[in-house]
Amino acid sequence: MLAANHTVPQVITWTQPMIKSHNLGFPRIGKDRELKKAVEAFWHGQINETRLQQIARELRRTHWQLQQAAGLDLIPVGDFSFYDQVLDMSCTLGAIPARFKRDEDNISLSTYFDIARGCTPCCGAPIHASEMTKWFDTNYHYIVPEVHQQQTFKLSSTKLFDEVDEALALGVAAKPVILGPLSWLWLAKIKGETFDKLQLLEQLLPVYQQLLNKLAQQGVEWIQIDEPILVLDLPADWQNAFTTTYRRLQLTSVKYLLATYFGDLGNNLQLACQLAVAGLHIDVVRGAPQLQTLLQKLPATKTLSLGIINGRNIWRADLDTLLDLLQTTRAQTSRELWIAPSCSLLHVPVDLHNEHKLDTELKSWLAFAAQKLDELDTLKTALNISPEYVSSKLADSRLVLNNKQHSARIHHDAVKQRINNIRTDMLERNLPYAVRSRLQKEWLNLPVFPTTTIGSFPQTSQIRELRKSFKQETISSETYVAGIKNEIADIVKKQLELGLDVLVHGEPERNDMVEYFGEQLEGFAFTQNGWVQSYGSRCVKPPIIYGDVSRKQAMTVDWICYAQSCTDKPMKGMLTGPVTMLNWSFVRNDQPRATTAMQIALALRDEVQDLEAAGIKIIQIDEAALREKLPLRKSEWQAYLEWAVRAFRITASVVAADTQIHTHMCYSEFNDIIQAIADMDADVITIETSRSDMELLDAFENYHYPNEIGPGVYDIHSPNVPTQQQIVNLMKKAAQRIPVERLWINPDCGLKTRQWPEVEQALRCMVESAKQLRREQLTD
Ligand code: GLN
Ligand code: ZN
Repeated sequence: MLAANHTVPQVITWTQPMIKSHNLGFPRIGKDRELKKAVEAFWHGQINETRLQQIARELRRTHWQLQQAAGLDLIPVGDFSFYDQVLDMSCTLGAIPARFKRDEDNISLSTYFDIARGCTPCCGAPIHASEMTKWFDTNYHYIVPEVHQQQTFKLSSTKLFDEVDEALALGVAAKPVILGPLSWLWLAKIKGETFDKLQLLEQLLPVYQQLLNKLAQQGVEWIQIDEPILVLDLPADWQNAFTTTYRRLQLTSVKYLLATYFGDLGNNLQLACQLAVAGLHIDVVRGAPQLQTLLQKLPATKTLSLGIINGRNIWRADLDTLLDLLQTTRAQTSRELWIAPSCSLLHVPVDLHNEHKLDTELKSWLAFAAQKLDELDTLKTALNISPEYVSSKLADSRLVLNNKQHSARIHHDAVKQRINNIRTDMLERNLPYAVRSRLQKEWLNLPVFPTTTIGSFPQTSQIRELRKSFKQETISSETYVAGIKNEIADIVKKQLELGLDVLVHGEPERNDMVEYFGEQLEGFAFTQNGWVQSYGSRCVKPPIIYGDVSRKQAMTVDWICYAQSCTDKPMKGMLTGPVTMLNWSFVRNDQPRATTAMQIALALRDEVQDLEAAGIKIIQIDEAALREKLPLRKSEWQAYLEWAVRAFRITASVVAADTQIHTHMCYSEFNDIIQAIADMDADVITIETSRSDMELLDAFENYHYPNEIGPGVYDIHSPNVPTQQQIVNLMKKAAQRIPVERLWINPDCGLKTRQWPEVEQALRCMVESAKQLRREQLTD
């Protein structure tokens, strides 16, 4: 008998099925970026493949055991990758671009890396890598599969099967994860003659069948098939293909969990409910409203997996609210319910315990991958046993949330006031472009085809060393400032020698265009080890925007003014725009992103004003990342573009009419957002166009873009240096589309990743081609 005062937690009765927890994917880089280091060491020949594989196995084991310890019922296997999981899938399917085809049944690691990185055979021309692009609206880049009309498929990699065996041998409750056939095909790019990619399903599905069969034979109960394209606007034939595909893939020996994430199913909801799969995973973080409909529409025999812990940010969850939601959901249904992060945890850093410099208050607000799994386990325990069992964890979460809501670190009345006081006249330049242009041309007195650059110049090892020493406080601030000024003076001198028209200071003080500003703004924090994979072995450490953003003091004025003091030619001030600052950071989740964007915009507006007051009359505001966070659904584009453009205009509109505002964007697909680009009303926009042979300017031509444009003529992603004639030809093509008086000549992007000799040569060609064009124009 139990003693009367012994508190027995109220245990849920047997009629309630137990809720299971699982994970969609775990970051593979390792908490100390072990994978990055090992892969790079392998590339440099410092370790052999055996050693690399051994490190990979150790990492997988560590991550599986960490997830086991976190109480997960099912653990993802196949989320590990040496470079990219989409490329892994392409290799499994034997979809290798012909230029990399070798006589191998099992694609070797060297072929795999060649596809990802390109290669130069000992005899012959370099073979270019497959393209890379952003994974949905994340900052992760995948290797774009290539397909052609005669494409065939064949199981060509045992990687996944090996990893499943490896996991099972370790006693891991393995749930293999694969990218589904429709999402894989959707992401593939057609090479050669165009055709309807869906035709390839006939060839593709037998290989998927084989793959699934094999996994089933290995003895797993569930297979997670990712079909993230179900959150996109899909054409009817793709929707229909889902039904037939999953009917054909059915197996009795294994169950499929169809995983969707990054948004709600929208008009694909009905479709997703009816597919021949045993379970469906949905993103409840981004698609909460779909839950109710799903509970009604999803057949009761199917498992529903609820992605409730946000896999896209680093904030601790509100466990009380989530528990409420889960309890209500459970009361509404008798089906099997699972809980999970909203998407793979690939997009968040590994472990908060790796942060030793963050102050305890800020740290208490955060959850990285490991902590997110802990939150999941707390919820599961609360549901399956009792909230009492985890009362201290729930109380802690409550406390943290409360503290965050009221923290003086986060909330600053003056900043909030300023947002409320934004007047419409603050969004407008005081004169229209036509008038501004005249005023600007008067004082600038530039030739036609003026030349400029995008901001950064090569970052030499001395410069990186100088910044590092300053950060580690091994040199004084005087030494540092003198060193940077020296570099600026040098860069200005080089530009004068080259004969460029509008100069820049070269950005030697910046290691990163967002971090540089974030570090000086109130409301931003930086981690020591908060790395997230960007592509291959490249990781980034996104800043964390935790509170109201404001500027403490001028951030660039001294450097730019110093640069201006070195020359009589116009010096262009250089800022990172508000939307880019936002899109490359982890953003606070307690107010709309648009509000945070406006706060950053106001802080940058002050910088623009200070630059102008200091005599800098050309200011560039980079919006490199404006396009990449376009919502996945077209219906949401307008709202995003509206606030994005508004944020830019708040930053830029503070200046006099004769001050010239430039903006820069690192891409050139403008067709669908050209109106928004025009609405930004920058006097000059520089864009990336050299690779497209200026065809991408068509958008500007068809739209009659009213302001000035600098189409890039130098591909800075390549070590190749363009010739004078190539540049002249490109500019002539540009001139067929844009009136000559509105054209500038510049590289595609900043030059910081290039070497000085190639940069000097390319810029010399650029200046010479401008001269040639001017001569030809005069004699025309
Ligand atoms: N001004 C930045 C530079 O030149 C722009 C970089 C970018 O567009 N990504 O480096
Ligand atoms: Zn760029």
